[in-house]
Amino acid sequence: MAGLSKRVRSLVRDDVASLSPYDPNFTPCRINLSANENTYDMPAKVRAAINEAIAATPTNRYPDPMSNELRDQIATWHGVRRENVCVGNGGDELLFNFFLAFGGPGKRLVDCPPTFTVYDIYSRMLGTSVVRCWRDPETFELDMTALLAMARTADMVIVTSPNNPTGNVIAPDDAARLCEACPGIVMIDEAYTEFSDEGVSCEHLLATHDNLVILHTYSKAFCLAGVRVGYVLAAPDIIEVLGAVRQPYTADVFAQAAAQVVTSMRGVFRPTIDTIRSERERLAAALGAIEGVHVWPSQGNFLLVRVPHAGIVRARLRDKYSILVRDFSSAPGLEDCLRVTVGTPTENDELTDAIASLVKEVA
Ligand SMILES: *Cc1c(COP(=O)(O)O)cnc(C)c1O
Repeated sequence: MAGLSKRVRSLVRDDVASLSPYDPNFTPCRINLSANENTYDMPAKVRAAINEAIAATPTNRYPDPMSNELRDQIATWHGVRRENVCVGNGGDELLFNFFLAFGGPGKRLVDCPPTFTVYDIYSRMLGTSVVRCWRDPETFELDMTALLAMARTADMVIVTSPNNPTGNVIAPDDAARLCEACPGIVMIDEAYTEFSDEGVSCEHLLATHDNLVILHTYSKAFCLAGVRVGYVLAAPDIIEVLGAVRQPYTADVFAQAAAQVVTSMRGVFRPTIDTIRSERERLAAALGAIEGVHVWPSQGNFLLVRVPHAGIVRARLRDKYSILVRDFSSAPGLEDCLRVTVGTPTENDELTDAIASLVKEVA
């Protein structure tokens, strides 16, 4: 934080003084492909059912602090028990609580950059030391040999699968080896799992690995980014700890009601998820065909794209075409990289045409 007064600077914790507010660099635009949301609207019949459920929800009473009805639904969905599920105000809150409970001074996290920067922010906030197991600079695949070695002395390991922003996944066999090597807790952040191929999720390892935590969210595939609901699947003792450190009532009555409707109607999302998956392949091919542009394969609803002069391309996409994408060009290991969310076919066509023109323009 640059503008701290002397007074506040002298009062605030050192760990906190070095932080800056999370800034996704949002500008309102005609086409927003910057935050990996589902760019399709909530399906109309699900929205109608949510509206009805919310209309029937009293607001004068506190919510169920543990969201037990929703937990039961999630448990049935994933073939586990209520004791294996913790609901939070978005995946981000669950990540924070994970750091609060298992991180802190003297604790060591291993993560695999380039990856989701929130892990780094929470580590710093709570004084957890971070050991970085860098991905291959060309393919962004995990270095499993190095990762297993680092995991042997880690309190926490986080692997994002599909990885944001590179799209790579960890093979479940590798995740199993990681759990076996690590004396601490291994989190697989599967925020984008609904977009990946069958057999990619590590969820089934919960049955055999009691130090595994799986993170899922309603924000991406299920059109609830604005409502803030995510959940963690893990062994009952880990869930108990997460339940103990959570701030009371963060999953409000409307959020619980909306997530319950979405869970019971989750099949309705299948066609749009399938479209996004096929659009991902179509968009990757179209962008990859532009001279000078490189696209990495992805199992998420986004693509990492290397474009010459990415910073300028990103600014002109916004200013000239009103298309917003995420600029990663100043992130370590991601030189000239943009991350684009896979949108509707029309959005993807517009993005492709705009990038094709801009690449020529800035050459
Ligand atoms: C989006 C995202 C999350 C969680 O998002 P919430 O909206 O807080 O549920 C977690 N991990 C990764 C890698 C993400 O991209």
